[in-house]
Amino acid sequence: MLFNIQDLVDDRLCYEKIRELRWSEGVKCPHCGSKEHKRHGHHNTCEHRYRYQCKKCGKYYDDLSNTVFQGHHQPLKIWVLCLYLMGLNLSNRQIALELGLNESDTHAMTSLLREGVYEKYQTEPLEGIVEIDELYLVAGHKGKPESVKKKSEKPESDV
Ligand SMILES: [Zn+2]
Repeated sequence: MLFNIQDLVDDRLCYEKIRELRWSEGVKCPHCGSKEHKRHGHHNTCEHRYRYQCKKCGKYYDDLSNTVFQGHHQPLKIWVLCLYLMGLNLSNRQIALELGLNESDTHAMTSLLREGVYEKYQTEPLEGIVEIDELYLVAGHKGKPESVKKKSEKPESDV
């Protein structure tokens, strides 16, 4: 195969998109719900994964806290690509081949993703999945990373 799809997808853009979807109404503490926060560097596994400290309860959280992506060793772009390939109705076996994963890992990931991306108490996880699919349809097939970048550069109010 000439291209490896993983090399064509940028982790930084994945995090920007996740932030855009997840914090669309502002960064919010998953522990107490407060929006009062300050940036606190980044997660030690990835510089694009922002950390925050809640000014109300003092706890730390990051872009992936309380999402299915948290606590797994796969980079975010692998999860995003997995979602994308699920959207194309590929089997677990095909997804595993495409992403260089073993089938049991892939099965675990697709099962989790089907349950929803965000916090369990949130009731509309599908919206995010659909938007991620659309983003990568655009990014993947038309090859215009600039337009994707522009999309995710909305002015952010309180970061
Ligand atoms: Zn808090």
